[in-house]
Amino acid sequence: MTDTFASPRPKIVLVTGASSGIGAATARRLAAEGHVVVATARRADRLEELAHDASAAGHRMEARALDVTDRAAFADLVGRVVADHGRLDVLVGNAGAMLLSRLDSFLVDEWDRMLDVNVRGLLHGVAAVLPRFREQGGGHVVTLASIGAHQVSATSAVYSATKYAAWALTEGLRLEADPGIRVTTISPGVVESELADHITDPHAAELMTTYRAASISPDAVAGAISFALAQPDDVDVNEIVVRPTRQR
Ligand code: NDP
Repeated sequence: MTDTFASPRPKIVLVTGASSGIGAATARRLAAEGHVVVATARRADRLEELAHDASAAGHRMEARALDVTDRAAFADLVGRVVADHGRLDVLVGNAGAMLLSRLDSFLVDEWDRMLDVNVRGLLHGVAAVLPRFREQGGGHVVTLASIGAHQVSATSAVYSATKYAAWALTEGLRLEADPGIRVTTISPGVVESELADHITDPHAAELMTTYRAASISPDAVAGAISFALAQPDDVDVNEIVVRPTRQR
């Protein structure tokens, strides 16, 4: 008989975009739950601080610099994680950019950046982990889409396009992946983070001030990710939408 109360085996979890917001909260929470977390992003100083705090609390977290737009670097890092730990159980593909603007602002470089990080960055992660998951007979890909993957608003066309893409890629992976590979899309509503701080278009930035007035903590999203990970291997939580109660 299965012991329902036995502690599940700690997982080796790689989180992208762990230097702030949802990624940092997820890395913190999963490490506190006993998992081994490889926290990645470009700002290595932030990751070192996060890993230092986790380790001071007796949790296991490693800081590793990674730009998700660098396909070779992503594959290399996953290889190193597997070499160090013997396996990789979970990829949390969280890194993202939201550079909102109207299409007729023609901020084409910002469109490219969102496509590079939110879509190509995610694909680089899938390409890096999928062969490993196949070899080890299982694994879990968690992607961060958005409410923006379900609805478009003026100024969100390109961002929403990248999030619709994230949603579609995750669903496609679910349909195609070998048995044993779990796939979860997390679609947050407004969450406190640095996400809107990088918007350069003044009109879009102003709209965000009102839109983002009611927000929830990044730990609320981390909790949803933790829930998906904690399910038994034969249960795949396909999508969780989590937003402020007040958000319409
Ligand atoms: P933050 O801006 O706080 O975090 C974004 C993270 O992505 C940072 O850690 C940043 O790290 C990382 N990142 C950006 N570009 C790259 C890159 N090229 N390579 C590696 N990492 C990169 O925002 P959130 O925490 O809010 O966003 C996390 C995810 O959640 C995103 O995918 C976002 O679209 C999604 N989301 C957020 C919502 C919200 O309201 N906050 C709502 C819906 C979805 P660094 O700069 O150090 O590389």
